[in-house]
Amino acid sequence: QTLPGDPLEENVRRQLHSAVWAHVSPTKVSAPYLVAHSDEAAALIGLTAQDCHSPDFLQVFAGNRTVEGMVPHATCYGGHQFGNWAGQLGDGRAINLGEVQHNGQHWMLQLKGAGPTPFSRTADGLAVMRSSVREFLCSEAMFHLGVPTTRALSLIGTGEDVLRDMLYDGHPEHEPGAVVCRMSPSFVRFGHFQILAARNETDLLRQFTDYVIKRDFSHLVNQHDNPRDRYIAWFKEVCQRTAVLMVHWMRVGFVHGVMNTDNMSILGETIDYGPYGWLEDFDPHWTPNTTDAANRRYRYDQQPAIGQWNLMQLANAILPLIEDTKPLEAALSDYATDYESQWQQMIAHKLGLNVYDAGLSNSLFSLLTEVETDMTLFFRALAEFDPARPEAAECFDVVYYQPDQLNQAYLTKRGQWLEHYAQVVHQQGTGAQRKGSMNTANPKFVLRNYLAQLAIDDAEKGDFAYVNKLLDVLRKPYDEQPENEIYAAKRPEWARTRVGCSM
Ligand code: AMP
Ligand code: MG
Ligand code: MG
Repeated sequence: QTLPGDPLEENVRRQLHSAVWAHVSPTKVSAPYLVAHSDEAAALIGLTAQDCHSPDFLQVFAGNRTVEGMVPHATCYGGHQFGNWAGQLGDGRAINLGEVQHNGQHWMLQLKGAGPTPFSRTADGLAVMRSSVREFLCSEAMFHLGVPTTRALSLIGTGEDVLRDMLYDGHPEHEPGAVVCRMSPSFVRFGHFQILAARNETDLLRQFTDYVIKRDFSHLVNQHDNPRDRYIAWFKEVCQRTAVLMVHWMRVGFVHGVMNTDNMSILGETIDYGPYGWLEDFDPHWTPNTTDAANRRYRYDQQPAIGQWNLMQLANAILPLIEDTKPLEAALSDYATDYESQWQQMIAHKLGLNVYDAGLSNSLFSLLTEVETDMTLFFRALAEFDPARPEAAECFDVVYYQPDQLNQAYLTKRGQWLEHYAQVVHQQGTGAQRKGSMNTANPKFVLRNYLAQLAIDDAEKGDFAYVNKLLDVLRKPYDEQPENEIYAAKRPEWARTRVGCSM
């Protein structure tokens, strides 16, 4: 694709018409330092741990240097924010360096926080250590949990200060700046299609959609000769991938926090780790996003429905290519049935059952919300529970936040549920493999909000040991790791007030 207009004006901040990207160079930083890198992400592009500790690596992934073949650029997208169309809004702080081909896969390398782009509007294009630690650690944690996600190659401090008004009180403070290099086959979001549709740039929309399909859904090119059929099949696949993603989030207790359409990956990956959080006590209405506290649009239990709402916006955007709402409506309705059936399988797996049992599942969710119960610890404890001795429930002692809530009414209800559970386990005959199977669906280690905060506190002081320790523990989230028990512990009381952060 060629860029229209005067190349000298490429880096002027602007609304972009008739194009989806612009050249932009990362801003150079004075004193970059490596905080952490991911060996597994590096291996995907053929880099060793030694490479990641080299001066060249530091310079390139701080944004100070490009290597041959890199064409740094930013893409432009729009989106619905909290349900309202917000026009062109991204990408003001992500710069694609270029694509690496390795082992038959392609990986786009993207710097987040490497300075302004033509789409930064009034913002600085930078990122702080706080949000970058959160993005880096959670990306890799999600990968090891088996949840589709963009990857994080590196976390580099810039040596520059960034001004942020964390308390929104008009008194911004200096924070250390950082750059994360993310990796994914594609960083295309629903919002990329939306901005072209909103501007009635149908030819460009078609060209862009063809490009995305050819690049990352190439199996559809052979399956469908007719472009219209291909677009429909593609939309169906995006729906399916999104349903799979929502089931994973619900399984591990992840709340994204900002499911705006510009934060929805076309590949069905978790993207843009901002004010995300993990359920601690099982509260289906919880959101980590303090700016969404009133409406709770993006709360835990609404994520699958929001996924569908977002897909509907994508359907609207590509309607000019298909000119018939029916196949799109059918795909959206399949999303709901796909999600429901996969969610049921997932719950059965979490419970160590072969077959989903609605009654058992419904009464469990009622039990979990009755008193403050740690979701992650509860499912691990349930794997320890012996259905042959349903009266023995000591394994649950560690899962409660407020032991004084454990009154007789609750204990009776729990006893009844455990008996019911023991019965169903017995009927379904999953006895011997039950624990092992459950422990592959129920992680022991997740990036608890307070753990991320402890890593941030140290990193801001120049101590990166905790970031790297967490990265290591989170590599094996389903293993027992008895030596790392402390990282599986429930949130301490001092961390009860949880603050999300997105800037
Ligand atoms: P978010 O709600 O975090 O997904 O942000 C929406 C969009 O705002 C992003 O796609 C960016 O383009 C833009 N943005 C957020 N923070 C900054 C920043 N510090 N500088 C420039 N643009 C930003
Ligand atoms: Mg975003
Ligand atoms: Mg509660």
